[in-house]
Amino acid sequence: MSFVHELNALPVKELVKRSLDATPQDVEKTLKKERLSLSDFVNLISPAAVKYMEKMAQMAHAITLQRFGRVIRLFAPIYLSNECINSCKYCGFSRENDILRVTLTVDEVMQEARELKRQGFRNILLVAGEHPKFVPVDYLEECVRRVHEEVPSVSLEVGTLGIEDYRKLVRAGAEGLVLYQETYDRELYAKMHLSGPKRNFDFRLETPERAYAAGFRRLGMARYTVLAIGGMRQFVLQPMLHTSSNTAGNRMSQSLFRGFVHAQALFNPLFR
Ligand code: SF4
Repeated sequence: MSFVHELNALPVKELVKRSLDATPQDVEKTLKKERLSLSDFVNLISPAAVKYMEKMAQMAHAITLQRFGRVIRLFAPIYLSNECINSCKYCGFSRENDILRVTLTVDEVMQEARELKRQGFRNILLVAGEHPKFVPVDYLEECVRRVHEEVPSVSLEVGTLGIEDYRKLVRAGAEGLVLYQETYDRELYAKMHLSGPKRNFDFRLETPERAYAAGFRRLGMARYTVLAIGGMRQFVLQPMLHTSSNTAGNRMSQSLFRGFVHAQALFNPLFR
């Protein structure tokens, strides 16, 4: 079953209400558990959880150390192209914008990659708008292959693709995929994405599933805070469900608790 069905079935209003009604005892019970569920998340983002912030932060820190050690991954982006066939209200690359459009040649991409390598970067993120003519999959494949000859870790932030195209990119050496799911609210999504393939909400929502199935080792998901509606609890509930969903694969985020605490820490003033 795809995550689309899980999202459609998520009783957001009920969960938000349960969060607002959670007691300190509910929070304490959650904090004693080893594995947490979405119901536990509801407790951790509750007003009652505010006074447990320090404890949550310490637990999150311990999980971070256990899973990642004292490691910071630095990456640098290379913008391959600002051509785009989509019209997204919040983006300067939007197709109706009258701007200079540039797509780097593969040789120009390599010049950038070598300069970043000289500066010490070993993780490079290739970023591009979505345009089948100027940014075809063959071009992305070639960029990944060549850049991967210079640095060990290459990730992509490009238009969403089908599983076979993702497989080609993985075979070329792409390790990670970064995806913005700007909002989980269908109506708002439709208002923000006026035309182009990106208007297809379900296809975008299922992208992590296709990427996982194609073999990407790292999946990164992000949201735009400016598109938060319905309050901050709703804003964090849906992505939390998404990152913990089995449909998207366990590689996405097993450290659910860490996400809980980060959400609470980030949005705490807004939760009160
Ligand atoms: S698809 Fe991406 S690059 Fe294109 S307009 Fe939308 S946000 Fe910008």
